[in-house]
Formats: sequence, structure tokens, C-alpha cells
Amino acid sequence: MPETLNLTCIVCPRGCRLTVVKDGDAVSVSGHACPRGEAYGRQEAVCPLRSLTTTVRADGGARPRLAVRSSADLPLSRLLDAMAALDGVVVRAPVRAGDVVARDILGLGVDMLATDNLEEARHE
Ligand code: SF4
Repeated sequence: MPETLNLTCIVCPRGCRLTVVKDGDAVSVSGHACPRGEAYGRQEAVCPLRSLTTTVRADGGARPRLAVRSSADLPLSRLLDAMAALDGVVVRAPVRAGDVVARDILGLGVDMLATDNLEEARHE
């Protein structure tokens, strides 16, 4: 029994309305104005991916938490697991934007990177 998904392509601001039909292993996409939209529709039908932005705890810093993002998209189905794994991560200030704060999260080949600088707390 074919399954139909109606999606808005989020790859660029044009926001094309996609119709994705999945029938077993066969996937067809319509409504896309470019190949990137077709690829997005196929990916959504097979294994939706999302980037992860969140914060982790920070020790010795001017702020108690540090903003981080994934170096690449993760399977949507694993985002909550990734958040749980990051719960145990504590970075030590100072940290620079772009520093890796967690490697190969869940063994998915994606790192978590700092998106901000974190200076050491000043002790006066
Ligand atoms: S299909 Fe292409 S043009 Fe349309 S929103 Fe997606 S990326 Fe943009």
C-alpha cells in the first residue's frame, strides 16, 4: 500500500510543496523545483535527518552552559538519544567556538561543536 507524504522543502527559502510517494523500496517525489528538493524528499521518506542544537554543562566558565551544534545532520529518530548522551557531557572553560565538545555521538560519525566562546570565570 503506497504511503503519501506532503512536505514543505526546507532546503532553501522558496519552500516548494513536495509530494512524496513511498511504495515499498520505491520512492517518487514531485513538486520540487530543483534536484536538492528531490533529494530532500527521498531522504525524508527513508530516514529523516535533522541538525541538533542544544547546550551542555560547563565547568569553571563565565556561564553555566555552552551552546553546541552537531557537525552534520543526525537521524531524527536518534535526536532524543543524542540529547540524553549529551546530558553527561561537561566542558571545562575556556572553550572556543568550533571546538569539539563530544566526538562521534552515538557512534553516528557526528561530532558536537561549540557555537560560542566560553571564557573562564573571573575570581575577584
Ligand atoms: S525544491 Fe529546490 S527550489 Fe524548492 S525549496 Fe527545495 S531546494 Fe528550494
